[in-house]
Amino acid sequence: MTLVYIALGSNLGTPIENLRKSLEHLSQKMIIKDRSKIYEAKPYGGVKQNNFLNAVILVETNLTAQKLLSVLQNIEIKMGRVRTIHWGARIIDLDILLFGDKVIQKDNLQIPHTELLKRAFVLIPLSDVHPQMLFEKKISEWINLIGDSKDVWLTGESW
Ligand code: ATP
Ligand code: CA
Ligand code: CA
Repeated sequence: MTLVYIALGSNLGTPIENLRKSLEHLSQKMIIKDRSKIYEAKPYGGVKQNNFLNAVILVETNLTAQKLLSVLQNIEIKMGRVRTIHWGARIIDLDILLFGDKVIQKDNLQIPHTELLKRAFVLIPLSDVHPQMLFEKKISEWINLIGDSKDVWLTGESW
């Protein structure tokens, strides 16, 4: 069994419902061990769009990383995600952040997620479920370093 951290994001339709729905789909395919609080974040990357809801979950799975990626993509499609512009609005985005301690550099899959240490909307929820994460620096130091914490805030929403 491998411990995997997955980032969830949504900014179309009813984002809170989309996060809950995706968790339900995920729970049919893997064991959900922990989930972060639910955050709201300003969109990243310069495309004008609604704010996102973001969260990170910890799961346990027997799937390979490639198989897990296709499971996540199938859930995205089942939930009606349509691929438009890169970093554009989406019903649901499911990204693998960390897959055990594996490092993968394939065309269709990079683990750890390449943007992991650059995004407050990922690191802040990740620190709820993985406060001990260490990549040369502590996760709290990475969050301070990127300095975008003002763009990410806690919602009152619960799972
Ligand atoms: P970003 O990767 O910058 O967060 P995005 O999530 O908006 O961008 P998508 O359009 O959802 O990008 O996915 C583009 C491709 O990223 C996918 O088809 C998938 O093959 C690839 N990919 C590479 N590494 C990962 C990963 N760790 N988790 C999920 N998808 C990944
Ligand atoms: Ca993403
Ligand atoms: Ca994605």
